[in-house]
Amino acid sequence: MNKQSAIATPSRTKELLNKYRFTFKKSLGQNFLIDVNILKKIIHHAGINENTGTIEIGPGMGALTEQLALHSNQVTAFEVDQRLIPVLQDTLTAYKNVSIIHQDILQADLVDIIKQKFTPEQDIKVVANLPYYITTPILMKLLRDHLPVSSITVMIQKEVAARMAAKPNTKSYGSLSIAVQYYTEAHVVMSVPKTAFMPQPNVDSAVLHLTLRKSPPVHVIDTGFFFSVVQACFGQRRKTLKNNLFRYFEDSFSREEIEERLQQAGIDGIRRGESLSMEEFALLSNTFYHPSD
Ligand code: SAM
Repeated sequence: MNKQSAIATPSRTKELLNKYRFTFKKSLGQNFLIDVNILKKIIHHAGINENTGTIEIGPGMGALTEQLALHSNQVTAFEVDQRLIPVLQDTLTAYKNVSIIHQDILQADLVDIIKQKFTPEQDIKVVANLPYYITTPILMKLLRDHLPVSSITVMIQKEVAARMAAKPNTKSYGSLSIAVQYYTEAHVVMSVPKTAFMPQPNVDSAVLHLTLRKSPPVHVIDTGFFFSVVQACFGQRRKTLKNNLFRYFEDSFSREEIEERLQQAGIDGIRRGESLSMEEFALLSNTFYHPSD
């Protein structure tokens, strides 16, 4: 491909902004990528090839979509901003393997759309430069919907990426780390400077690569209850486990019962939530889920 014609360059992006009199909407997280080399690295980390089916969220003017069209078999992209639909029809006209859906990703029935757009044998991956204002709701929707997708590679705010991939006993470790790592193996694969975007965002960015697990890494009796206990344990970070658990279970357990159950689980109540592994959180929630009385 002739590099000059790539969408992700400052000159082409400016040209399109002028042609369509397009003004960025901060409320939709519109920071477009203007660096093809960064896009190629994202494609590399996503591990896509000519057989992969790709789903993109928020194609913007098509910077990443174009690279996905060039390096994968088929692209389905969801864009919420009506003003960008004619722009995408123009910029991506040469790519017959791209399908644009004008819809809010949070409203989309992804299971149904995947059935319509891809074959059951196809390896499907999500690749996106996400709108930062709804990163977590989008990712949690993708994970909880149990989609037939093998990986998710997303550009997000650097700090959020660090929290999602964090290990115990680190500053970034919290309930979001457990929520994401229950469903995936998470790795931050690269940092991206602000200068790669137009307009430049206020925050630093990073690319997070999530490999979806075939089954959860721990056994929990009730997933909803497990996540509530995890949240309770991180409720007040400086407080001990037993104090956070007491706050959460105030109406169901006395302090003594909480101590007993912690003992039953073999977990010291004076520890802090940030020191517990996923296995320990599972043990804890299963112990509290089964009242012995
Ligand atoms: N992919 C383009 C790029 O890399 O240059 C644009 C990325 S920009 C960070 C985020 C895009 O997501 C914007 O085009 C925005 O309009 C779109 N968007 C915002 N909220 C959305 C939603 N709920 N559903 C689908 N697209 C959304």
